[in-house]
Amino acid sequence: QDVVNKIAAAEIIHRPSNAIKELLENSLDAGSTSIKVTAKDGGLKSMMITDNGHGIRKEDLPLLCQRFATSKLRAFSDLQSLNTYGFRGEALASISFVSRVSVITKTAQEPTGWKAHYSQGKLVAPNRVGSADPRPSAANQGTIITAEDLFYDVPLRRKSFKSGADEYNRIIDVVTRYAVHNPHVAWVCKKHGTNQPEVSTASGSNCLSNIGLLYGSALSRELLAFGPAEDKKFGIVKVHGYASGAGHNGKKGILLLFINNRLVESNKFRKAIEALYTAFLPKGSYPFVYLSLEIEPHRVDVNVHPTKSEVHFLDEDAVVELVMNEISKALANANA
Ligand code: ADP
Ligand code: MG
Repeated sequence: QDVVNKIAAAEIIHRPSNAIKELLENSLDAGSTSIKVTAKDGGLKSMMITDNGHGIRKEDLPLLCQRFATSKLRAFSDLQSLNTYGFRGEALASISFVSRVSVITKTAQEPTGWKAHYSQGKLVAPNRVGSADPRPSAANQGTIITAEDLFYDVPLRRKSFKSGADEYNRIIDVVTRYAVHNPHVAWVCKKHGTNQPEVSTASGSNCLSNIGLLYGSALSRELLAFGPAEDKKFGIVKVHGYASGAGHNGKKGILLLFINNRLVESNKFRKAIEALYTAFLPKGSYPFVYLSLEIEPHRVDVNVHPTKSEVHFLDEDAVVELVMNEISKALANANA
């Protein structure tokens, strides 16, 4: 059974940045306004996520890394939506099957914090000595989750990573994207043991200034806002974002796509944006688009695995066309 779980877990968590994405979504779920990511050897040696969210109650700690045993799953309807980030209760379980997980957490209600260690979905004693029960620990409100020695038990996967540098770049990329979409949060992403973060944003910032900070101020100055728009017929609650204009000369295309606040991939959107811009951008020059789409949760394909980022939804072609119209309008206005 454990072997099966381990294989399943390694399917979900392909590389350090997959784990980081899940962990920071949990921190956002917990209402954090400060999220700090620290990585050692690109997350392969260790990754630590520190947040100031609502914390985890002591009584929830024993089942924290058990599959499908999360608090949110008590409300079954959540299973059918991408509205909350977490909706399957598999992330922490999977991470605990491919690394050594420890948690320090404190809620506002409890006088002290708690520390717990996990392996293969279960609470374990630190260094396998003594009781597995959570122990009291000094802590600020919020949660610190550490995952060490990623894939220590999955040697083939472990060996497939040549260097931590490339993995760290992927981590920076994920944090950067979430920082653009969640500018109210103060974000930090840094290598373990250094004091010079690669990502550092202030809380209460806004989307455009975070784009300027993280992708360059020249880009942020030329971006065009589109939306907000809605369309009841296709269940579009809100679409908005920023797109580069005709003068932009990007060396590669950058698409930040959030559907119901979750970072996703969509071939349909990617292709439609490509088509829209090849019409007027010179060859070898690519757009930047940040696009946030909120659609009624029941329209999002529930069969898509939570950690598979390619997403599908009802009336896909119509929705994509509608969004492209919004971007086109912004481009046309800029030229008028
Ligand atoms: P899901 O997010 O799908 O519920 P996860 O395995 O990602 O499943 O997380 C399990 C549960 O652990 C969450 O539902 C949440 O209750 C709790 N949790 C995880 N991380 C945090 C955190 N940083 N702050 C507060 N609670 C957390
Ligand atoms: Mg989650």
